[in-house]
Amino acid sequence: MSAKTILHIEDNEFNRKIVRDLLARTSYRLIEAADGESGVATAKRERPNLILADIQLPRMSGLDATRALRADPETAHIPIIVITSFALSGDDQKAREAGASHYLAKPYSPRELLEAVRRLAPEA
Ligand SMILES: [Mg+2]
Repeated sequence: MSAKTILHIEDNEFNRKIVRDLLARTSYRLIEAADGESGVATAKRERPNLILADIQLPRMSGLDATRALRADPETAHIPIIVITSFALSGDDQKAREAGASHYLAKPYSPRELLEAVRRLAPEA
């Protein structure tokens, strides 16, 4: 049984470390990208089982990255959790319209994130 791969697209190293530490106690294999363009390229190359995408990213936003992944038949099926900055900003609606499978508003709890990850990509 092979571990499922999660791609985390996030420009902020502190936020990347939070997710890294959280997933270190699970069987998931984590890969990372620090901007939207390299996130899309990494997703096409690595075909992760799940993508976590911050909404605010350099080069290409998390919403545009989500749209690009949904538009490509090779990545269209991958569940994407968009991490929005602020629930009341309307980002949740934008995330849904872009094709996100789920969204989480910052600050999210580790338990919330793990629940969403395990629901969309059950641990092997
Ligand atoms: Mg960011």
